[in-house]
Amino acid sequence: MTSPTLPILQNYINGQWSYAAATELLDVINPATAEPLAKVPLSPAETIDQAAQAAQTAFKSWRKTPAPQRVQYLFRLKNLMEVAFEDLAQTITLECGKTLDEARGEMRRAIENVEIACGIPMMMQGTNLEDIATGIDELMIRQPLGVAAVIAPFNFPGMIPFWFMPYAIACGNTYLVKPSERVPLTMIKVFELIDQLNLPPGVLNLVQGGREAVDAILDHPVIRAISFVGSTPVARYIYNRAAANGKRVQCQGGAKNPVIILPDADLEMTTRITADSAFGCAGQRCLAASIAITVGEARDTYTESIAQTAASRVVGYGLEPGVQMGPVITKASRQRIEALIQAGVDQGATALVDGRSPQIPGYEQGHFVRPTILQNVDPASEIAKTEIFGPVLSLIHLDTIDQAIELINSGQYGNMACLFTESGAAARQFRYEAEAGNIGINIGVAAPMAFFPFSGWKESFFGDLHGQGQHAVEFFTQTKVVVERWSPKSWSRQF
Ligand code: NAD
Repeated sequence: MTSPTLPILQNYINGQWSYAAATELLDVINPATAEPLAKVPLSPAETIDQAAQAAQTAFKSWRKTPAPQRVQYLFRLKNLMEVAFEDLAQTITLECGKTLDEARGEMRRAIENVEIACGIPMMMQGTNLEDIATGIDELMIRQPLGVAAVIAPFNFPGMIPFWFMPYAIACGNTYLVKPSERVPLTMIKVFELIDQLNLPPGVLNLVQGGREAVDAILDHPVIRAISFVGSTPVARYIYNRAAANGKRVQCQGGAKNPVIILPDADLEMTTRITADSAFGCAGQRCLAASIAITVGEARDTYTESIAQTAASRVVGYGLEPGVQMGPVITKASRQRIEALIQAGVDQGATALVDGRSPQIPGYEQGHFVRPTILQNVDPASEIAKTEIFGPVLSLIHLDTIDQAIELINSGQYGNMACLFTESGAAARQFRYEAEAGNIGINIGVAAPMAFFPFSGWKESFFGDLHGQGQHAVEFFTQTKVVVERWSPKSWSRQF
């Protein structure tokens, strides 16, 4: 159902805003109020084709634009994003529900990726060795791939495209962005800034859409590389289909992130940090703590302290001051999270703090779930393995750190694992043995800054090169090796 008076969102293709020849429109909903904000088109395959062809045409001259000139556009984009910072953050809160401070943090990380990509003239350099054999030189140079695309999830509408997009174009590729159809507005705002850059038309393109648009990207012959971030089943599907079509592909998937709390951990700091990790962004972060494993005496102290913190968290509309946690993205998400809490109880856990069906005065229609703590979760139960993607922390108790690491390593995901302790030896053992791509020591959200790759292991990632930093440069370039010999006889004749 769509409301007739809402604005219909446009795509940005070949340097121009245009309406998709879409057959279907979806309402974009403010999750705190349940009010529709706009209608987003589910662009058909022909729209993807227009964008891909425009990007392919633009590639011919964009790749010849010197790297130091290409990054000048990114310097200007950074400045425009700084000026529009508050507007971008508010748009994230409006369509995604997170608090304004969380949205600001997200945009800061997006800008950081633009800043790093400005270093492409250094980062994209190759290597060479003179006289690799007598009179022979060998060079490895990096060249762009052509057209690339990102398919993004709903939970970081402003940041996640920036894990890829600035690096892609700085390396000389041209690009398509397909945001989540649930949060299309933030990228519209970003592309309004991009429109002011006077980039050559077709270098950056925005196409709104859902599955049909995704499949068209996966199958399009001119699209050479695809970055995906989203749930594991979709990540696996995209990885398989894109790879079968001969494309370079990197897919970041779902998670079930554990944190271990040792008896010597600083209780106040650990509680604060793990609560922020589990309940920040209403638990809708791929790096949200989902399981807290207490070891030895940490059980009683941590359980009491995290329960108090969870129960006292201020939940409401993210644009209002003092609010610490907003709603989850949709009514269906709320129902799914509440059903998973019930499944946990059915599987033997106790809802020590039960956040189901809260009443948030003034926002009765919003998609809210309050922080929830499930106690005595059986490590073998389904709820201990399922990604909930909501503000639910499951408590598990074990006797030793070895058992805790063994439990972590038995899980299907490997996005993040954290340890809280004052022991350097325990930290070293954990860092060495834990099977996850992002490790936190006394950190609750071990999100790599843009200088480092956003790692992920096991079913949290399909591919080899990750987003951000030098990995992104390698993903968006192909190496060419040149072996050269020049006859010494010709040297002297030149001069
Ligand atoms: P999602 O998988 O439902 O959607 C992601 C994208 O895929 C969207 O653009 C959507 O349009 C498209 N899509 C969805 N279903 C599809 C299908 N059947 N065929 C083709 N395309 C499809 O994910 P979401 O709900 O938007 O995001 C939440 C998920 O993303 C969570 O699992 C979370 O852990 C994960 N996530 C992972 C990371 C990471 O870095 N590993 C970061 C953020 C989010």
